[in-house]
Amino acid sequence: MAAVERTPLVDGFGRAHRDLRISVTDRCNFRCTYCMPAEGMPWLPREDLLTYEELARVARVCVERFGFDGIRLTGGEPTVRAHLPVLIEKLAALGVDLALTTNGATLRLLAHDLAAAGLRRINVSLDSLRADRFAAITKRDELGRVLDGVDAALEAGLDPVKLNVVVMRGVNDDELVDFAAFGRDKGVEVRFIEFMPLDAQQAWTNDQVVTQDEIVERISAAMPLEPVPESVRGSAPAARWRYLDGGGEIGVIPSVTHPFCESCDRVRLTAEGSLRHCLFATRELDLRALLRGGASDDEVADAIAREVGAKWAGHQINQVQFIRPARSMSQIGG
Ligand code: SF4
Repeated sequence: MAAVERTPLVDGFGRAHRDLRISVTDRCNFRCTYCMPAEGMPWLPREDLLTYEELARVARVCVERFGFDGIRLTGGEPTVRAHLPVLIEKLAALGVDLALTTNGATLRLLAHDLAAAGLRRINVSLDSLRADRFAAITKRDELGRVLDGVDAALEAGLDPVKLNVVVMRGVNDDELVDFAAFGRDKGVEVRFIEFMPLDAQQAWTNDQVVTQDEIVERISAAMPLEPVPESVRGSAPAARWRYLDGGGEIGVIPSVTHPFCESCDRVRLTAEGSLRHCLFATRELDLRALLRGGASDDEVADAIAREVGAKWAGHQINQVQFIRPARSMSQIGG
């Protein structure tokens, strides 16, 4: 069989894309206030979701044709989709750096199977260390299970285990130092995420954003930090700081106040097979129609290249021309 030609997937701004974010479902067992309403969303019919074979095919085309080396599985909540280790095994066989973002509620049950199937690293979303506040944010009284899930991920040898904390002014920003201390004690890296306008309720306002500068200043006042050189960051979304006393690192994802679009190397695949060249994209490519319409790998690769070729410079949050995407976070994936 002739060798498949591999060419970097470069957009009009010279950014080479190497990281595929795959949403495996729009469904979730939590109802986080900054993501979806308490009653949930109108879920996609199961037959509209890409099968694991179809998801793995898109991933294989990205790896074989464009040299992608990273895949992150997201949702909704990816662990609510049945037989997730089956998909992980297929993707791990591609030899990429395979990661998962989860709310952690089922990790005590799944962590070992996910690791055995080939998962390398994991991010657990956790926005409060207080049971009452956790329940108020997620509409679920599950803090204990999530904390136990973090332990299960560490026991399963997933490395690194990171925490994703969406920081919201007046909601959980008084826990910054508690989270930093928790991360130091547990040996997990805490990533603080600036609140983004992707909530289904469209209630986001700029004054709810706790900025990167504030986050670092407030933690550093309690546990002195210094920046990790930008050179180490590469295309990773998180800027990083390390404790002067050697107690580890924190990360901040400053999408609103310090956008990192100029080094973006990510594309996203929604659960029903739409390719998005940006989290905030206002257009997308229906890959499912191609996959189910008998398209060859060449045709799939060409369509992906065209879509990424049309990628914009970056999001326009806080600019007059900013248009909220028609989809909310749970319908795109992190
Ligand atoms: S906002 Fe869009 S372009 Fe910017 S880093 Fe995120 S995905 Fe990339």
